[in-house]
Amino acid sequence: MWQGCRLVLALVLAGLPSAAIAQTTAISAPPAAPAAQSTELPPTRADILRGEYGRYRANNDLLFYHLDVRVDPARKSISGSNEVRFRMLSDDTRIQLDLHPSLNVDRILSEGAPLKYARELSAVYIDFPATLRAGETYTIDVHYSGMPLEQGRFGSMAFRTDSAGRPWITTACEEEGASTWWPNKDQWRDEPDGMQISVAVPDGLMDVSNGKFVGSTKLGDGYTRWDWLVQYPINSYGVALNIGAYAHFSDRLGDLPLDFYVLPENLARAKPQFAQAKPMLEIFERYFGEYPFAKDGYKLIEVPYLGMEHQSAVAYGNKFANGYLGRDFTGVGISLQFDFIIIHESAHEWFGNAVSAADASDMWIHEGFATYLEGLYVEQRFGREASINYINGEKPRVRNQAPVVTQRGIHREPTQDQYFKGALFLHTLRSVVNDDAKWEKLLRDFYQRFKYRSILTEDVVQFFNAQLGQDLTPIFNQYLRRPAIPVLELKFQDEGTLAYRWKADERDFAMPVRAGAPGALQILEPTTDWKTMRSPAAKDVFVVATDLYYIDVRRLE
Ligand SMILES: [Zn+2]
Repeated sequence: MWQGCRLVLALVLAGLPSAAIAQTTAISAPPAAPAAQSTELPPTRADILRGEYGRYRANNDLLFYHLDVRVDPARKSISGSNEVRFRMLSDDTRIQLDLHPSLNVDRILSEGAPLKYARELSAVYIDFPATLRAGETYTIDVHYSGMPLEQGRFGSMAFRTDSAGRPWITTACEEEGASTWWPNKDQWRDEPDGMQISVAVPDGLMDVSNGKFVGSTKLGDGYTRWDWLVQYPINSYGVALNIGAYAHFSDRLGDLPLDFYVLPENLARAKPQFAQAKPMLEIFERYFGEYPFAKDGYKLIEVPYLGMEHQSAVAYGNKFANGYLGRDFTGVGISLQFDFIIIHESAHEWFGNAVSAADASDMWIHEGFATYLEGLYVEQRFGREASINYINGEKPRVRNQAPVVTQRGIHREPTQDQYFKGALFLHTLRSVVNDDAKWEKLLRDFYQRFKYRSILTEDVVQFFNAQLGQDLTPIFNQYLRRPAIPVLELKFQDEGTLAYRWKADERDFAMPVRAGAPGALQILEPTTDWKTMRSPAAKDVFVVATDLYYIDVRRLE
């Protein structure tokens, strides 16, 4: 998703100065609070019902959904059913699904027989007359109907019209949850292995959803049903409807079908703009391996909002212009060379959709990586120096007021630091590894190890530590679980002696850093204890490679 759009846009419009790269000193932030706690309000009952992976979710494993709905643009309503197939992991008589209270549960059936259920806010507890047995597979049909509330930044489910007055109905619900418009197990830990999506819309309109297009069927009652098959695990919020009078064109990247859907009046602008998708996908494939959803294809679909990484069906609303809505996003003269939304949302196919966070608390695995992948794209196209400039251009947008990783189990999304600080952290880690081939292999192996899985930050830390054969845990903790970044403290003493240490919240924080005389930097190995060395450069020429690390430097008198 693109969460930071409003703030970032405001900054761009305000003409914020471009990145302060190659800075050698900085005023550090005030000392951070010792505990990495959220400063936000305590969780509500709704937060807990939404975010907790409790007994009635943990007792089952999703296998398959068939969402079969009819959308009425005139009434702004949706009705239909979701067939839910799951395997029990422990014996129990109840499971939890979710559906927004504004929508009606019409009935829930098991082999044709109605099941009892109880609702509390968005939770729907379904009770079975006999114990469901661990290891056994069950199927239920949840029938529902109603008028979804338009809510959140991108509308959740929004009934709009295009400039010609035709219906244009889209979904984007990462924050608000998929249960705002369809019944499902609305959490991040468990994904079905696949899904069928059947959407009936008035004749003359088309629905573009995730997965492979199976076919369309005229129903004879003024509606046409559009069928799509998702052949990979999918996030609930990644499931999308895009209903409009779309025009379609296509291309291929080797065996991979590329399909593009835009409003007819935008065809001429879309064709050259969307040609960017192919080289972008090629660059990401070079780094990480094959596009993750090859059997489902890759799609770009025009929507009335900015963009969203719906799996294999990327939502696009960047106005067919380069940069961020036509503006230089990072302010360092590179962003206008490519379409920000195509690159950012397509990067999510690897990180976000293939490798997914198991809790919203760890969403930097989506956004930090996707933002870092923008930098890798820039590096491939424009070189390493341009990439360093691009990533450093994000520094002014980091706030460092709350940890990147938030509290688990309450569906609390991190601040927008998850984007820029997440990317700057990975950029820093690369400098710690200090071996490009090793770093690229590490990223690729990490992706390959965890693709089609939902993971937490601990999994990232464990994998990186094991692959590198060193304990980077304090570095991960400082950047992701503490608000403040580390400060390199330098004190130039008499007779050319330099004292140096890290000021960090993590007592064991130790991170190599390049510093010394310009043009002859060497690697210092500071810890949180003072060390001394013969200074490699006089005080007034001594520099720290702050463009390669996200750190502050403080010179003590
Ligand atoms: Zn994103």
